[in-house]
Amino acid sequence: MPLFRFRYMAHAKSGSDRMEKIVSLCKRRGFVFQSSEIYGGLNGCWDYGPLGTELKRNLKDFWWRRMVRERDDVVGMDGSILMNRQVWVASGHENTFTDPMVDCRNCKSRLRADQLPEKNGRKQCPVCGSFDLTEPRAFNLMFKTYVGATEDESAITYLRPETAQAIFVQFRNILEVSRKKLPFGIAQIGKAFRNEINPRNFTFRSREFEQMELEYFCRPENGLELLEYWLQERLRFYRDIGLSSESLHVHKIPPEECAHYSKGTYDIEFEFPFGIQELEGVAYRTDYDLNQHQKASGKPLDYFDEESKQHFIPHVVEPSAGVDRTALALISAAYDEEVVTDEKGKSETRTVLRFHPRMAPIKCGVFPLLKNNELLVRQAREIVDQLRGEMMVFYDETGAIGRRYRRQDEAGTPFGVTVDFDTIGENGPALRDTVTVRHRDSMEQERIAIKELTAFLGERIR
Ligand code: ATP
Repeated sequence: MPLFRFRYMAHAKSGSDRMEKIVSLCKRRGFVFQSSEIYGGLNGCWDYGPLGTELKRNLKDFWWRRMVRERDDVVGMDGSILMNRQVWVASGHENTFTDPMVDCRNCKSRLRADQLPEKNGRKQCPVCGSFDLTEPRAFNLMFKTYVGATEDESAITYLRPETAQAIFVQFRNILEVSRKKLPFGIAQIGKAFRNEINPRNFTFRSREFEQMELEYFCRPENGLELLEYWLQERLRFYRDIGLSSESLHVHKIPPEECAHYSKGTYDIEFEFPFGIQELEGVAYRTDYDLNQHQKASGKPLDYFDEESKQHFIPHVVEPSAGVDRTALALISAAYDEEVVTDEKGKSETRTVLRFHPRMAPIKCGVFPLLKNNELLVRQAREIVDQLRGEMMVFYDETGAIGRRYRRQDEAGTPFGVTVDFDTIGENGPALRDTVTVRHRDSMEQERIAIKELTAFLGERIR
């Protein structure tokens, strides 16, 4: 047991040091790798390793549970990534989904004009420091591709830059099959692609990423009130996955900066090591999207209100979150280092990811005290089998038990179960069929009966 611990990471180190450590841990432990790494990578694209994949899955599953399964008024859909080009013409993406881009005439870097540092009121190239920049011009962020065997104008479409449009164009079908009444929502999780001018800050700004979006349709008179409701719901979600209230910020977008069709937008922001940045947008988009698609397709996308016997186009409130950004927020918030001193006075630094158990990639490590004792190993394996149906477990028999705990601390595993000689009754019947459960954060240990383990852990990880 440690006698003495202190934390020094949280405030003492600069954000860039902290970020470097996080990136290196992500690679070392298999959260995130550079895409196509052996060929030098592909800028703005990332692969998730075993731990990162579990983390993202837990995040998406919890979002789905909160936003769809626990509610009567939301249903899900899973749209295709490629859609008819007319979707993107009608939504306005083909003409206006752009960022302002400048070129540096000196070092030839391509830069986002609205993110340039300024010196004495002049915009500067962040790469070489030159002020010799071109005028900004609009750069469309959609990846263009061709559908079918001919690469001509008629075959052009785009990889979707957001998941939302599939929801709008299927609004009528889903309304009919789900038989929902307003207000109700359609939720979707899926990949989106943006040819970002400067992908950066690790996975924060990628060219391929995942979104979790809800389009919540309502009567026009309820839009503003529902915007506030969804802002609060989404903040509750972030707190429930382990992001502290202090690390979350709400930025109300001033009306002049909102999209022209929006009657109100909030950004939910998080304190990343590289600064306070957007995690999610919650936007009241009015009836803009459905109206655009109704006009362009000529197909009705309205709603018939039984009570008033009127047809109208519903308004919509959209909470739109990024899976990758939230996963990065979870890792950043969880990362901690502390110096631990044992009874013999020996100090070492413990790296620990303090994930909320609900988000932790592995919920429980299972360790036989010794790997060359058949009884210990057999009992530990049986516990793995007992827990496996309920949660992600990891069996580890190699190395000193302290080392095994440390390895799981670094992976963010909240519980460690150790099978020792008491478990197999070698020290008398009192502790037979019990194990030690070690808690990651406090490093405290308690004795639990094997038959109670599934329930004990189950209620702590849900
Ligand atoms: P930003 O201003 O950071 O470019 P945005 O306001 O354009 O983001 P939205 O269009 O509102 O983003 O997209 C909704 C969510 O999708 C964002 O809050 C973010 O979590 C995620 N997202 C958008 N672009 C990216 C990206 N390039 N990489 C990772 N996630 C992204």
